[in-house]
Amino acid sequence: MTANIRVTVWNEFQHEKTNATVRAIYPEGMHTAIANALRGFGDMDVRTATLDEPEHGLTDEILKTTDVLIWWGHKAHDLVRDEVVARVKKHALAGMGLIVLHSGHASKIFKALMGTGCSLKWRESNDREILWVTSPGHPILQGIDDHVIIPVEEMYGEHFDVPEPDETILISSFSGGEVFRSALTYRRGAGRIFYFRPGHESYPTYHHKEVQRIIANGVRWAAPVSNSAAQTYGNRGPLP
Ligand code: ZN
Repeated sequence: MTANIRVTVWNEFQHEKTNATVRAIYPEGMHTAIANALRGFGDMDVRTATLDEPEHGLTDEILKTTDVLIWWGHKAHDLVRDEVVARVKKHALAGMGLIVLHSGHASKIFKALMGTGCSLKWRESNDREILWVTSPGHPILQGIDDHVIIPVEEMYGEHFDVPEPDETILISSFSGGEVFRSALTYRRGAGRIFYFRPGHESYPTYHHKEVQRIIANGVRWAAPVSNSAAQTYGNRGPLP
């Protein structure tokens, strides 16, 4: 029997404290809603961490015992301390999986790993989002049909200023006619990165069963393999 995947769900946890609409949807925060959903799958040990905790809840000890880190941030990107970003980046390159959700596209950690501006178009006006499968059979889409409908969401539109992904596995269309590459995979160093678009704070997206399933599949896909940090670098002698 394989060990459970150790997941840490990080949320800046700011909107929920200041906005009654958001708090009504996520009374204990988006991180708690996501963590509870993941626990329901039975193969993950899930913790949470938030901005206001010491070191944002992301000490070296926590990251060392995290297989996959999930990141939700929006209004407080600038308050995330650079030394914590550097620490997360170090662990991600060494093999820790990273799942960046929604407005996390503009987080310091995602921009550091992408190396581009990571900007996009957006509109908050109750668009319907349809996510269409572009990579049938991909492990992150296990249990998903050929599309997923989210009745109301914020629109994100192209161009999304990221490097060409290793895989584009879902493309979204919106009521206003825009399209967006909404589920992307990257490898950086020994680590795997999954960007997944849905999850604006004022809509109940993280209660959506198929969204929860895609995040859970993403955790399994991004989890490190046992030897992922075994590389050595620098001068060395020949093999005997
Ligand atoms: Zn948003």
